[in-house]
Amino acid sequence: MGRGAVDSNSIFISDLPVPECDRIGKEGEGFRIILDSLNPERILGAAEAIGIGRRALAKATAYAKERVVFGRPIGQNQAIQHPLAESWSELEAANLMAFHAAELYDGGQPCGAEANAAKYLAADAAFLACDRAVRTHGGFGYAREYHVERYFRESMIPRIAPVSRELVLSHIAERVLGLPKSY
Ligand SMILES: Cc1cc2nc3c(=O)[nH]c(=O)nc-3n(C[C@H](O)[C@H](O)[C@H](O)COP(=O)(O)OP(=O)(O)OC[C@H]3O[C@@H](n4cnc5c(N)ncnc54)[C@H](O)[C@@H]3O)c2cc1C
Repeated sequence: MGRGAVDSNSIFISDLPVPECDRIGKEGEGFRIILDSLNPERILGAAEAIGIGRRALAKATAYAKERVVFGRPIGQNQAIQHPLAESWSELEAANLMAFHAAELYDGGQPCGAEANAAKYLAADAAFLACDRAVRTHGGFGYAREYHVERYFRESMIPRIAPVSRELVLSHIAERVLGLPKSY
């Protein structure tokens, strides 16, 4: 799905010596260091999703103002306005959660639940915004020239990576709500 948006490839590494001077941190601490990097990656993923969603929403809004059907801009119809207004609300709410998670992380506080929730909310908000942007453009939404099809494809990535929606929900269910581990 990444054609023209991001490139995706396989790499294989075998028998590569790494000199000790290139080691990050102390010996035996690698896994903890990797874990420390997962929460900011989720916050980053949330920010990425919010950016894609905002861009799609801006494109949809501009098109809704300029496209005239039956003598009025399509953006004058509530069936076009309301989904776009919903997307604005959803993206801004997700953004607040992402900033909340980032503030906790910057303060050295635990932020696993917030970072996961931010990524989850932002990914879904972006996906919906892109879906609505494609449909606001009608048939042109399918055309490359309007770019929203590319944002739509791109908006799938934060739903899958770096952690899927299902695993985010499992984390919150277990770690926040205290429910039994399901996986
Ligand atoms: C464009 C792109 C870039 C990526 N970049 C990176 C990267 O930089 N670094 C990196 O480490 N990874 C990266 N990934 C990988 C990504 O993190 C994984 O694809 C993702 O975490 C899902 O894992 P999986 O593909 O093994 O799916 P699977 O684990 O096979 O899961 C498949 C489906 O089943 C669901 N599922 C699995 N187990 C459970 C369960 N117990 N309960 C409920 N549902 C479940 C999943 O949520 C998912 O929907 C990238 C993926 C893509 C598409």
